[in-house]
Amino acid sequence: MVPEESPSGKNVQRREATEKLPGFREERKAVEMLAEGTLKGRTAVVTGGGTGMGLAMAKEFARLGANVVIASRKQEVLEEAAEAIRAGAAKGAAVAWYTVDVRQHEAVEEVAAKVSERFGNAQILVNNAAGNFVVPASQLSVNGWKAVIDIVLNGTYFCTHAFGTRLLEAGERGSIINMVASYAWTGGPGTVHSAAAKAGVLSLTQTLAVEWGMQGIRVNAISPGPIEETGGAERLFSVPEVAKAVSDDVPLRRFGRPEEIAWAASYLASDYAAYVNGACLVVDGGAWLNKGFVKLFEQR
Ligand code: NAP
Repeated sequence: MVPEESPSGKNVQRREATEKLPGFREERKAVEMLAEGTLKGRTAVVTGGGTGMGLAMAKEFARLGANVVIASRKQEVLEEAAEAIRAGAAKGAAVAWYTVDVRQHEAVEEVAAKVSERFGNAQILVNNAAGNFVVPASQLSVNGWKAVIDIVLNGTYFCTHAFGTRLLEAGERGSIINMVASYAWTGGPGTVHSAAAKAGVLSLTQTLAVEWGMQGIRVNAISPGPIEETGGAERLFSVPEVAKAVSDDVPLRRFGRPEEIAWAASYLASDYAAYVNGACLVVDGGAWLNKGFVKLFEQR
């Protein structure tokens, strides 16, 4: 035991106390947020819904009773994910998948038409599909820049336009959720392409919240922090030392969990958020506000 009077000892004790908090790191509780049936009768489309946070959101929407459509490029990933979503879906909630590359606006239009034909217009759309990799801007190729901008910014716009205009034309209400990241407003050294694209997505969110809010379509964003069990975490934080440094930098001292993002999304999709429009819900354990304070405080 480190003596109480030692400053570093105090910090060890603080950390031990934090680690005993419910929900810290590995401790997982099978908790449910909204009641089954909350999204009954609605259809939710999640791009990139076969993996990571997209899959967690799709599972939660299906548990809440929505018909769920997942869409991305890889058929085998979608098939397997659809099985997993079906396993926990509420009675009567259908699960479907479509292969699509969100960069291809005609293909996106086709999927939107198929969804409307099969389920009626989707009232919930989550623009979750993304691509990202770490590279200094000086070494980023034109193709690398274009690929990320195309998936994240253009893909989000194509999907939003295809699904949103169907609702507008039919005079139906809806909820669109765009996944961003805090580098949309802080900048992201090492990820200039993704940061610029997410800044565009945040702006698109705010613009359409006003344009389409007047017609009953709410447009919001979620900004996740580092989230475990996601493609993003694998790509950006796979080196253990990096993962540790990242989680140590989060005031809540851990990575977030995919289901914590799914809870935020299901709230925004639901009528409980009927007056929430143009918001960006930050779910990052306080990470973006840290500015090095956590480390400084520990070293005292
Ligand atoms: P992920 O597991 O990497 O999944 C990305 C999904 O996007 C995949 O299912 C992929 O499926 C799909 N996708 C990629 N390119 C596509 C394309 N051209 N067309 C259609 N689908 C495409 O994602 P994640 O890490 O959970 O992140 C989810 C969202 O949160 C993203 O928007 C990400 O930017 C954001 N975010 C993540 C973190 C994090 O810690 N992970 C932090 C902040 C923000 P296919 O390969 O089958 O196409």
